[in-house]
Amino acid sequence: MLRSMMERATNGIMLWSLILIPFGMAAMAFGAGPISFVEFRQGVAWYLNYQFSGNFIFLPLLALTLVLGAATLVVAGRAKLTYRSALSRGAVPQREVAVVDEQRLVTRARAALEPELNRSAPRVDRILDLLFSLPLELGASDLYLCPQEMLVELQLTIGLDRVSVSTLPHALHEQLIDRMRQILGVDEEALKTDGDVDFRWSQSHQHFRVELSPSSAGIQLRIQKEGADGLALADLGMQAATLIAFKAMLGCKNGLVLVGGNPGNGVTTTLYAAIHQIHKDRKLNQGIASLETVVRQELPYVHQTELGGGNAAAIFEGIAAQNHEAILVRHIDGKALAELAVGVAGERAMVVGATPGHNAAELLVSAWELVGTELLVQSQPSALAQRLIIRLCPDCCTPASVLPNQQIAGWDFSGEFHAATGCDTCQFTGRVGKVGLHQWIGFSEGLANTLRETRNAGELRERLQSLIPSFAELALEKAKAGETTLEQVIELIHEEQSNG
Ligand SMILES: [Zn+2]
Repeated sequence: MLRSMMERATNGIMLWSLILIPFGMAAMAFGAGPISFVEFRQGVAWYLNYQFSGNFIFLPLLALTLVLGAATLVVAGRAKLTYRSALSRGAVPQREVAVVDEQRLVTRARAALEPELNRSAPRVDRILDLLFSLPLELGASDLYLCPQEMLVELQLTIGLDRVSVSTLPHALHEQLIDRMRQILGVDEEALKTDGDVDFRWSQSHQHFRVELSPSSAGIQLRIQKEGADGLALADLGMQAATLIAFKAMLGCKNGLVLVGGNPGNGVTTTLYAAIHQIHKDRKLNQGIASLETVVRQELPYVHQTELGGGNAAAIFEGIAAQNHEAILVRHIDGKALAELAVGVAGERAMVVGATPGHNAAELLVSAWELVGTELLVQSQPSALAQRLIIRLCPDCCTPASVLPNQQIAGWDFSGEFHAATGCDTCQFTGRVGKVGLHQWIGFSEGLANTLRETRNAGELRERLQSLIPSFAELALEKAKAGETTLEQVIELIHEEQSNG
């Protein structure tokens, strides 16, 4: 309904503009006489000079422009108001929920590939073109050529699903790999290599990451679309125990999973990965909904709602009324929204969301302050806090005896650490990307009791913090495993000490 009103308003404005423009042009031509471009410019200058000296021939045009501008403002403003008030009454903007349809995907991929594959002499360059354009056309993040015993499987990754879409013979696969090595400019015999390819079409271009890696039946090829985030939880670098506990909690029918951390620490990515996990694990009948300030990434199987400037609690109520089995709430803030979201988590749906706080204890304290003990305990809350730190280049780091640049009371920096010497992969910086540190507080009877027994936020914070390792302690483990530097650990210790 809302949409049809907006459409009618837009159409009306366009129609009237089309009708009125000729009149405006005629008025202009009439005022300026037979014109060339120069004369028109002179006409405009003349108009500016003499507008108010008795010649009113341009006034209708001016009035027309003003009326049109005002009409646009009024209609756009009204549409926005209606939209907001509909949202706050609980309407949810419609969005098509397109679940990945494997059969359709396979059909489309085959239609693109098979004419070329079935030629008596397949053209290698033409097929490579298709391999680069397929992920874009079909909305996939990765394309794989996986050699099997008899044939080579072509697979696409969409969201977290990896779908096998076609096959090709080994002989052709080997030609493709050879050609790819030439494109990457590597040795013809290279088994494992990777590189970036900038692929150009007539009007656009796209970066890809290409990887060749050996497998038992031949060389596997992976073409990854750049900008395609790894959304698998397993790729986030959680400790095994944390990952298992986090996944188990996401698998529950209902409950509250808080995810948080300081801005810039990949919290949004983890939230999306959690939603992917729920989608992958359960065959949901009622689907997944989300309430986000800004939709950062379109998830085809999530009914995503962008908050805009709307009333979050009212919009959440509208979403909750639709009985989704899982709801992502990007920011659980404000008492009204928090009470609704935590209430739904306690009754019937899995709610994944972020509360303010830089560590896992803070996330729970924030929620506790917003909704109080009873509601929070009923929702069976757990919390995951995330922090990203520098990551040593895995290709060139070696065990080294690193001496800390300072000693800190209570910390033992003995043992072996790692240092990176620099290589092509890390462009001689010794660092590649970031590695995540994760604090996890899972729901248990013990946690429920702690929540019930504490009377104030300070006490709760202290008791919860005693349950989890600090980020500095987690970083020290990563440093000993060769994933980050000792300097980074020391930096975190100082940061945590100054935060109290
Ligand atoms: Zn390196």
